[in-house]
Amino acid sequence: MNVDIIKGASCGFCSGVMRAIKLAREAAQGDVRVYTLGPVIHNPQVVESLEKSNIISVDDIKGLSGGDTVLIRSHGITEELEEEIRRKKLNIIDATCPKVKRAQRICTNLAENYSKVFIIGISEHPEVQGILSRGSGRAKVISSLEEAAKEEKFRDAGILVQTTYRTEKFYEIVSELLKKGRVIKIENTICEETITRQEEVSELSLKVDLMYVVGGKNSSNTKRLFESSSKNVTSLYIETPEEISPRQLTGKKRIGIVSGASTPIDTVNRIEERIKKELKKSKKEGKKTK
Ligand code: SF4
Repeated sequence: MNVDIIKGASCGFCSGVMRAIKLAREAAQGDVRVYTLGPVIHNPQVVESLEKSNIISVDDIKGLSGGDTVLIRSHGITEELEEEIRRKKLNIIDATCPKVKRAQRICTNLAENYSKVFIIGISEHPEVQGILSRGSGRAKVISSLEEAAKEEKFRDAGILVQTTYRTEKFYEIVSELLKKGRVIKIENTICEETITRQEEVSELSLKVDLMYVVGGKNSSNTKRLFESSSKNVTSLYIETPEEISPRQLTGKKRIGIVSGASTPIDTVNRIEERIKKELKKSKKEGKKTK
């Protein structure tokens, strides 16, 4: 039996992650160490390889002193932390994704013009925290439809959204908030690359009978892709090729592979190779037992 393996066209890093890694590598030349505030991306394999190149993840700036180099990840950071870094006179490499920067600016503008600002997203996500800090105390995070339903009526508000949020869920929450106020400005700040990935996973998951969703287990955008894919087809959330087992592939005719924004294309290619290898092996074993 021939098995088709279909890899999503947008697999691999998004432009924001690619830029952050490039800036980190360019800065970490010679003896220069670059400290990133938290892992530069949500992918343990890449973080490990960056450490070997002097790009070290730290939880906070307490242990750093003047002259040390700090890289701000593509998610961005809070305004307070940015001020603290400047006060400490650390060298800053700002790798905040331009699309996240735009969302931060929009939040500031909405807070200047509306009495409330709702940021739809995962409240503990660093990107959302960074955006929230720019809302002049008027911004609030809404993480679910239930939270939106509990909101009191309001006169006017601005709404924006985490760049990697699921589009359908964003619309659902916006519809709920629209019932609560009269003057509402909606800014859809979901990035185009996220939309492309989401559309791709929705379409591909209808064409295959097994989907591998590849990404770090703590990557929020990969989780969203997995949720979408699981609605249509058996989906497996994996980080490495070693997680593929022959049992998963039994009887499958079309296998899809999609990846989160912080998954290297190399990992996706190795996963494809592993699937092919396992299929070949089981074909051989099948012939032997006939
Ligand atoms: S997912 Fe979009 S907004 Fe987020 S880092 Fe990548 S390109 Fe930037």
